[in-house]
Amino acid sequence: MQNSLTIALSKGRIFKETLPLLAHAGIEPAEDPETSRKLILSTNRDDVRLVIVRASDVPTYVQYGGADLGVAGKDVLMEHGGDGLYEPLDLRIACCKLMVAGPVDEPPLSGRLRIATKFVRSTRQYYAQQGQQVEIIKLYGSMELAPLVGLADRIVDVVDTGNTLRANGLEPREHIADISSRLIVNRASMKMKHEAVTDFIRCIEEAVNSHV
Ligand code: AMP
Repeated sequence: MQNSLTIALSKGRIFKETLPLLAHAGIEPAEDPETSRKLILSTNRDDVRLVIVRASDVPTYVQYGGADLGVAGKDVLMEHGGDGLYEPLDLRIACCKLMVAGPVDEPPLSGRLRIATKFVRSTRQYYAQQGQQVEIIKLYGSMELAPLVGLADRIVDVVDTGNTLRANGLEPREHIADISSRLIVNRASMKMKHEAVTDFIRCIEEAVNSHV
């Protein structure tokens, strides 16, 4: 449909924190993705539906037009690279920091640092800017384990309270970037569905600015 909108969201923190913003735009999902197995959720509005995808897949769905819009963390967007996307709005939700962390009691290090992370692109870019040669080891989760078993010297991960680091004998070392979730838009949808997309962005922007 010319002016219908498909919005890609991931379950969990991003979904929960986006709900009040959607409500401000008059959009309420018909079901809760935490309890429903459906991947396409209808809403109270005939012209708006939500698709539930993995957080790291949101930019890809929006880039290729599987969704007109989406909500993705800046960490995920930095890894994706942002091709084919507009990023018109910082939603100021799901805030955290991308950081280098290492063991509290670190033995003296020699040679090239080994860094375990799922944020390979951001990590490569960060150390290139520092002019430091490192070996990057790609992991998909539980990065905190890597220094504990000698797989890596440091990790690069998103940190919120720092509790997960502390619980594993790690501490934050270097700040790479402040992270929050962004509204992203497919470039073709911005043209073809201009009115619907810009109305939606305006409503969400209003919600963000009124601290909904
Ligand atoms: P923390 O509060 O630092 O113990 O965070 C716990 C874990 O949640 C971290 O290891 C991260 O992997 C994850 N995390 C925290 N904040 C975010 C966020 N805004 N987006 C995605 N993952 C997060």
